[in-house]
Amino acid sequence: MLSLQEQFQQTFGRAPTVIARAPGRIEFIGNHTDYNGGAVLGAAIDRYVWVAAAPNAAGRFRLQSHGGAKPLDLPAVPAARLTGAESWANYPLGVWRSLGDFKLPQPAGFDLFITSDLPAGAGLSSSAALELATALALLELAGSEPIAPEQLAALGRHAENNYVGVPCGILDQGTSAFGRAGQLVHIDCRGPYFSRVPLPAGTHLWIFNTREKHALIDGLYATRHRECLEAAQTLGVARLADLTPAQFRPLEPKLTPELARRAKHVIEEHARVGDTVAALQRGNLPAVGRLLTASHRSSQHLFENSTPALDRLVDLLEKHPAVYGARLTGGGFGGAVMALTREDFSMAEAEAIAAQAAPRPDLIHLQSADGAAVVR
Ligand code: ADP
Ligand code: MG
Repeated sequence: MLSLQEQFQQTFGRAPTVIARAPGRIEFIGNHTDYNGGAVLGAAIDRYVWVAAAPNAAGRFRLQSHGGAKPLDLPAVPAARLTGAESWANYPLGVWRSLGDFKLPQPAGFDLFITSDLPAGAGLSSSAALELATALALLELAGSEPIAPEQLAALGRHAENNYVGVPCGILDQGTSAFGRAGQLVHIDCRGPYFSRVPLPAGTHLWIFNTREKHALIDGLYATRHRECLEAAQTLGVARLADLTPAQFRPLEPKLTPELARRAKHVIEEHARVGDTVAALQRGNLPAVGRLLTASHRSSQHLFENSTPALDRLVDLLEKHPAVYGARLTGGGFGGAVMALTREDFSMAEAEAIAAQAAPRPDLIHLQSADGAAVVR
């Protein structure tokens, strides 16, 4: 296969002047806590989006993604969103526009080539990786000083919220910006405030992707979001994560049984993120694993954002002695289960578990990785 430099050369007839890359991420624990003012732990993973770029002296904007027939060639960055087969370009073009919104330098024209080993749309956040790698490459072309990872994350999120139209929280971009091999990224979503927590050595991460997607997924998200806001309002707090489980217990009868389940999930999940940080700091991996699996059971029974296929995978993984814990990762209603395992958990063992689930999930073996950076 051609290298990224060679692909760039073939497409644009010269060499790139910069290459940046940004990792995908998994949600380690902290399910639907972000918009409730809670905490979340993410891991940047060793799957990336790479962006090679060079200035375009004619002031044109040329973009090509690996596998595309020919580059998109625009005289200016369009104000309206692109649709259909060109809609992927809203991410890099939205980043260019966001640079202006953030009062950061923008290159007057650019040639851009994207490659990736991160499956798109699998819940591993290829979109944030694309935004961050693009931002770093364009800043380099514009001769900018390096920017802080907080600003990089905010810029990527701004592009996705405003120029792609996805109302994502800060987990995806924050984890891709702050990731570090051997560490998890802790985000207190009220700030957001970012920090890192060491992930003890000898652990590996696995993704079992069911590829199922609930037909009503957007509506279900919106419903859960509304239920959480309604519960907080009834309980008299700005955000559900403002309450501890002990404070919540006597208030629970104020809510309908359904809203009580939603609130209990969020409040206990926020507490579980804190407990997970403490268990990681003690190096107590079995305790970390129990918290991960407890998070899943809470999704299954209280937040009701799991599916039978995700539950089945967690049931199977929970029984395996080399698996510390497993849970659905991301919004739910389909998608993937992540597992934290000992390093001796093998691909053959993962395959054996996948073979017992129907339909058979895709397997991805991962390790934690460094965050977005210019690599050349
Ligand atoms: P996720 O972030 O979980 O992978 P999203 O739906 O948020 O899923 O983002 C996927 C979208 O990001 C794709 O549909 C595409 O528009 C864009 N994208 C991701 N990777 C690439 C790539 N390598 N080249 C072009 N576009 C990409
Ligand atoms: Mg995404």
